[in-house]
Amino acid sequence: MPNYYDILEIDKNATEDDIKKAFRKGALRWHPDKNKDNKEEAERRFKEISEANNVLSDPEKRKIYDLQGEEGVKQHEAGANNPNPGMNPFGNNPNNFFNMFFGGGGGNPFGGNPFGQHTRQNIIKKSEQKNVVIPVTLKDLYFGAKKKITIPIRRLCVGCQGMGGKNATTCVGCNGMGVVIISKMIGPNMIQQVQTICSSCNGRKKRVETPCTTCNTTGTVINDAEFVLKIDIGMDNNDKISYPNMGNENYEEERGDVVFILSLNDTDKRFTKVRNHLVYTQNIKIGDAIAGMKVHIDHISGEAIIYEETGIIPDKSFRIIRGKGMSNGGDLYIYYNIQYEDGEVILTPNQKELIKRILPTTQYKQPIDTMAPNLVTIEKLNHNFSIEKIIYYFVI
Ligand SMILES: [Zn+2]
Ligand SMILES: [Zn+2]
Repeated sequence: MPNYYDILEIDKNATEDDIKKAFRKGALRWHPDKNKDNKEEAERRFKEISEANNVLSDPEKRKIYDLQGEEGVKQHEAGANNPNPGMNPFGNNPNNFFNMFFGGGGGNPFGGNPFGQHTRQNIIKKSEQKNVVIPVTLKDLYFGAKKKITIPIRRLCVGCQGMGGKNATTCVGCNGMGVVIISKMIGPNMIQQVQTICSSCNGRKKRVETPCTTCNTTGTVINDAEFVLKIDIGMDNNDKISYPNMGNENYEEERGDVVFILSLNDTDKRFTKVRNHLVYTQNIKIGDAIAGMKVHIDHISGEAIIYEETGIIPDKSFRIIRGKGMSNGGDLYIYYNIQYEDGEVILTPNQKELIKRILPTTQYKQPIDTMAPNLVTIEKLNHNFSIEKIIYYFVI
């Protein structure tokens, strides 16, 4: 092992700042990701640079090194009850270099935790959640329902337990980390780093010599899985039914969840569900609105609801029938919507006279019949407007 000062290409009187700069320069120069053609040498050099920095950047270790050499430092580290005696704090993994620069806070001069990778490994990642939208009808929600659903689920290959093959060795591409940090200079002394799945091992941390033929080295197979969804009375649009840990599986990950999302999509558009109430749109004609009518509703329960409107039915009005909403205790709102004929209904002068005699009409201070019409241009009548809608119409 050459001298640590030679490795960092600094002299014995180098300041802490000099060491920091030299380490950075060397580590960037010899990072294995940047030396793909020369990987072996790069890995060795990188390791040396890391070790040299580890000792020289620590004033106490540097003093020991200067007096007793490498052996003295090792003894000191062992004696200090170091969790990894004599071990390179980067775990010999070049990626840890970047963790030191960019990782979270910690005790070392670069503000990262050199043992960070060890804690990270202990956290088991959960595979991605699979969301499946399930169309349901109002009847499904009214009566409750059971639905058989078959969906593709990714499972670990039984043939290789997710490894993609046999005779596995630690992946050299990522040093068994499963991920690599790709870095690029984005300015003077500025490095941008992106963590990606190692392409050599597909994140499996090991490389196999005998590829698995069952899964074609992917480590997983996709099979149909059947679920029987129980839609309970009282469930609503967008409600979720979860099956924890019954979804997709990936190597070294906890199985993901399957979540079914109910999507109310009824072909019968006359009913609208609002919480446990139902709104039924009853289209009526102008004659119904004036003379009253019998209303007949085929309720989603299968029941026929029949009653009579005896008076005038104002447009956009509604009536409530208690207890006839959804099966979990809502009400039924019948909303009246007058459908006018295309264009204006033109009555004969006699019919008009008859209606005016029966129904109330607008009264003016001076009898309107005696006034001559002005020569104003009147446009076509617009239907279904509120004052708010008319104002909106102006703004547009
Ligand atoms: Zn790898
Ligand atoms: Zn396999």
